[in-house]
Amino acid sequence: MTLLDTDTLPSTDHVSVVLRSVRHRSPGESVFHQAVEEVLAALGPVLDRHPEYVEARILERLCEPERQVMFRVPWVDDTGQVQVNRGYRVEFNSALGPFKGGLRFHPTVDLGVIRFLGFEQIFKNALTGQGIGAGKGGSDFDPAGRSDAEIMRFCQSFVTELYRHLGEHTDVPAGDIGVGVRELGYMFGQYKRIVNRFEAGVLTGKGVGWAGSHARTEATGYGAVYFLREMLATRGGTLDGRRAVVSGSGNVAIYAIEKAHALGATVIACSDSGGFLVDDAGVDVDLLKDVKEVRRARLSAYAAERRSATYVTTGSVFDLPCDVALPCATQNELGEQHATALIRNGVQAVSEGANMPCTPGAVALFRDAGVLFGPGKAANAGGVATSALEMQQNAARTSWTWAETESRLENIMRDIHDHTRATAATYTDDADNYVAGAAIGGFIRVADAMLAQG
Ligand code: GLU
Repeated sequence: MTLLDTDTLPSTDHVSVVLRSVRHRSPGESVFHQAVEEVLAALGPVLDRHPEYVEARILERLCEPERQVMFRVPWVDDTGQVQVNRGYRVEFNSALGPFKGGLRFHPTVDLGVIRFLGFEQIFKNALTGQGIGAGKGGSDFDPAGRSDAEIMRFCQSFVTELYRHLGEHTDVPAGDIGVGVRELGYMFGQYKRIVNRFEAGVLTGKGVGWAGSHARTEATGYGAVYFLREMLATRGGTLDGRRAVVSGSGNVAIYAIEKAHALGATVIACSDSGGFLVDDAGVDVDLLKDVKEVRRARLSAYAAERRSATYVTTGSVFDLPCDVALPCATQNELGEQHATALIRNGVQAVSEGANMPCTPGAVALFRDAGVLFGPGKAANAGGVATSALEMQQNAARTSWTWAETESRLENIMRDIHDHTRATAATYTDDADNYVAGAAIGGFIRVADAMLAQG
């Protein structure tokens, strides 16, 4: 699906030429094209006001990663068989700081997926104002059902190649889908073993006891809810008493639910790849954490243990009546049908905890219906922003308290919201156009740094 017909893009000539060239140079990378289109579609008013960006070919440069590596990841499974996966790291842009972005381990990972995620990271990271460039990596390795020892051997093999591209001033990975503190621990250990240095700042998302930051685990989910709260506040609303649905049940979803509850909302549903659970009493976050983080089990295990909950295998959380929705699972999970159902059921705001979970058609429906819509580039920037806080603590060899770190996260999310909104008002005359505000706000910071650096 495409966001816009190429012929109707604003600032038509330049943008459509760039778009055609991106499609030509990366055939078949549909999610990458989708992400590029969404950003380019918003940039017309900026290019009209700043011809210097066009002259310096900033768009072409932005769409081409500075460097990308693909590598073999051989590892031995528990039966003694050799397995081979493919690893990726796309170093997209270093105008604002070292390449920064997560690693995703999932069978759907391919170069196009990593490039889409790395491209998003450019604007997201710029919006945080934290001096971080953009990258993304991962593997088509499927961690589902793998033993702890298999995960460790895979992570060690992955870093045995990747380590040479990393460094606290060069490229600093973190987690994403399939990569959490356990995997980062194995990768950090292998990096340390190879280089013989405790370089704390080479990875973020580390355990709090070994140079990690408080609130990093919680940051993406909490941040998406803070962003939602800020959007609602522009219309005099709060989260108190709101009914919410969340998709996903991984790291982002769990902590989005926790923060939504803390701010007075009731989250009545969340999902996994097999279906979703409905819990009218409100999702029990302690049980959810136990099922997902400790037992690494499926959501059906939650439903089996709680009387108020049912596990449903047809339909979607987005079919349920709710006031606010937080898609926190994966790209393109929320399509036009879901958006139509949400709008019919009276949804007032949608905040993207995942990267690009809403299709372009769904976004257009939300915008037309006057639903507040927070795009992932802005709404889920809390994770990488707190990674930058972890880098700061590592560089200073210090550790802030939970309260200090979380309050910084909260302030950063408020700043991102306000900057996105102000940028939208300046360039589009519609302050609610967070999609344009996030793309333009991030773009200008990166473009100016690229111009300055030649
Ligand atoms: N994977 C997260 C994201 O999509 C976090 C990246 C990081 O902390 O570097 O932004």
